[in-house]
Amino acid sequence: MAVTHSHLSPATVLGYPRIGRRRELKRAVEAFWAGRTTAAELEATAGDLRLATARHLAGLGLDAGAAAVPGSFSFYDQVLDSVALLGAVPERFRDLVSGASTGTTGTGALSLEGYFTLARGEGDKPPLEMTKWFDTNYHYLVPEIGPDTPIGFVDDRAVREFTELARPADGGQAVVTRPALVGPVTFLLLSKAADNAPDGFRPLDRLDDVVAAYAELLRALADAGAPWVQLDEPALVTDLLDTPFDEVSDAVRRAYARLATDLSPASRAEGAGPAERPAILVTAPYGDLRSEVGDGLALLAGTDVEAIAIDLVKGAVPDGPLPGLETKTLVAGVIDGHNIWRADLDARLTTLESLSGLGAGAVAVGTSTSLLHVPHDVADEPRLDPGLKSWLAFADQKVAEVVTLATGLTQGRTAVADTLAESAAVVRSRSQAPGVVVPEVRDRTAALTPADVERAPYAERAAAQQARLSLPPLPTTTIGSFPQTAEIRRTRAAWVRGELSDAEYTAAMRAEIASTVALQEELGLDVLVHGEPERNDMVQYFAEQLDGFATTVHGWVQSYGSRCVRPPILWGDVSRPAPLTVDWTAYAASLTSKPVKGMLTGPVTILAWSFVRDDLPLGDTADQVALALRDEVTDLEEAGIGVVQVDEPALRELLPLRRSAHADYLDWSVRSFRLSTAGAGTATQVHTHLCYSEFGQVIGAIDGLDADVTSVEAARSRMEIVPELADAGYGRGIGPGVYDIHSPRVPSVEEVTELVTLAAKSIDPRLVWVNPDCGLKTRAYAETKESLRNLVRATEEVRATL
Ligand code: GLN
Ligand code: ZN
Repeated sequence: MAVTHSHLSPATVLGYPRIGRRRELKRAVEAFWAGRTTAAELEATAGDLRLATARHLAGLGLDAGAAAVPGSFSFYDQVLDSVALLGAVPERFRDLVSGASTGTTGTGALSLEGYFTLARGEGDKPPLEMTKWFDTNYHYLVPEIGPDTPIGFVDDRAVREFTELARPADGGQAVVTRPALVGPVTFLLLSKAADNAPDGFRPLDRLDDVVAAYAELLRALADAGAPWVQLDEPALVTDLLDTPFDEVSDAVRRAYARLATDLSPASRAEGAGPAERPAILVTAPYGDLRSEVGDGLALLAGTDVEAIAIDLVKGAVPDGPLPGLETKTLVAGVIDGHNIWRADLDARLTTLESLSGLGAGAVAVGTSTSLLHVPHDVADEPRLDPGLKSWLAFADQKVAEVVTLATGLTQGRTAVADTLAESAAVVRSRSQAPGVVVPEVRDRTAALTPADVERAPYAERAAAQQARLSLPPLPTTTIGSFPQTAEIRRTRAAWVRGELSDAEYTAAMRAEIASTVALQEELGLDVLVHGEPERNDMVQYFAEQLDGFATTVHGWVQSYGSRCVRPPILWGDVSRPAPLTVDWTAYAASLTSKPVKGMLTGPVTILAWSFVRDDLPLGDTADQVALALRDEVTDLEEAGIGVVQVDEPALRELLPLRRSAHADYLDWSVRSFRLSTAGAGTATQVHTHLCYSEFGQVIGAIDGLDADVTSVEAARSRMEIVPELADAGYGRGIGPGVYDIHSPRVPSVEEVTELVTLAAKSIDPRLVWVNPDCGLKTRAYAETKESLRNLVRATEEVRATL
């Protein structure tokens, strides 16, 4: 059967970086926050950026007239955009919304200032909670939905943004975009129940209201002439959202019956009045729609939407034919939106050709996810090794790959023969390049045995460590970093620019370490740290020194809001050419008679915050990193260090979106951590730090890490984790954080006393350590000193009662 709507362009991407090639949006937004510019100026800058981006994408080959360019801009976060669209503002921020219709935004709409206030909080009003977006390092804001939360179509920003580009005020090139929004089902599945919602209320209970508002938006888009709209429904690829598949499918059916079936698209409306909606593309990025819990692809195929985008990088090629697909366009996400390697275009073309058996009305080529997760352009990286550079595809290169594949698919391979040949040459050069496979590294991982991840029994270790360290009950420590002052940052930057010699830089960092050690002694902490002044970032610091990694200059990726990170590129077999941390740590230890704790970042976290290779299983790469760290532990021991902490704040972040894959993931991640630490002698105390408070799915893994001491975030949840660990049979050291380091607030002695007492009641008090929730690098010294002073005082009070 022929597709009855206006065809979706054969080449498209699901989204594009929004922050700007030189982080223009970041700077503009931060200038607005600082009061240096007005909302109108910020709007103008953002409008220019959107126009330039849309034209740039058209220039790269996305059809400017056929909705190939996604309208995926956001000032801060796409989930927050839906909150604004719906006016779904939590009670505490209600004073921010307009009482009456003003201009283009309706009653209940947020101003730009109000929008940012939801994201950043104000006075005693905490912002919306932030959490990780699927299995990425992007963070979205969690909507709070209750039975009375206002929900309507109150903000037509998406329509205005479409119109601005379709009919640009400068009279220049027009671009007909495809507005991209979080879909209604995913929006509600990612929301949490508002604090005042009655027991048993779930955000999904408000589906009809949300869908009604989206229906109004679709009408407005159709009126503005938008041929297509994109609704992202990644909630369909995970079973971690605590809603059974039956309920999710019910919600999807109901939502898309209203949106797709009840409203007429352009084609059906011919002769029957104007279109009531654009054609709808539903996307399902980040994973496989099909799993043991249900078939999300069949579900979507059964709706009346015009196109479905599937992720063929994480997901398998579905077999068919699939009823319902014959009237739809299948957007095949064969180009990886979440990693930075050039694709093997020949293989991808074969995948695309194999889709013909599904019986789709048409096949279009797309990215597996939005390109939000990759930097803009490889051409911006003058300092990368040319060989490595030729293997990489950032957002712009990926757009070109999509365009090539679409041409190959529609016009045959010969039409793109040269590009295919070039891609094949790249694949070959990469597989044969020195450093990609290093025989010594491979031999070492191949020779590993189960004994390499075993240490002596805990009781033996605990006795040997106590004999060596003689720690008091409830030992106090910190998580590693001390405040990174402007002075420290300036010094590091000057050294990177070559304005400071190595000797000058080392002297400056040593001075910093000396003052941090002196401070900790004065405060009376038991296990000291060197303070990490030399680290720009807990992953990049290691990536810069290990073989197998490269770092970029402009490779920024949005992490949340205006915050961007530059993930290192892990391209080859990993090894450690020289010690990484020993000099700094040993220097700190030389200044005190107290134990100093060495600080390493664990293998899982190093992988989670890097672009990882796609030619080796993640578990194998993790083992390589683990062995490099294991050698570092040995060197620290040789330098006399008796306590080593290996941080794994990202252990939970890499947890697969499907439960069926958890056992395998936890198996290799826990093993690689143990591999990094199990070389330590019995008398060396191994710490780890995990940086989140919801442990549900990884509680067993925490025990499996076999660390002598585990510190965790716990202050906000009031030590909840301690009884949970005790119930699960955990019996080693535990340092539940006693104050939140995300704010400058100083905890009182009473407050800390109460939390320490609580922890000591929930588990054998001999296991309890006292420490903050996390590192102190984002804090200032004033509050840090006071907070730690109170921490030590409170510990002394509780000790007296033991
Ligand atoms: N050791 C690191 C620090 O203190 C840990 C950071 C983290 O958990 N994210 O900064
Ligand atoms: Zn932390």
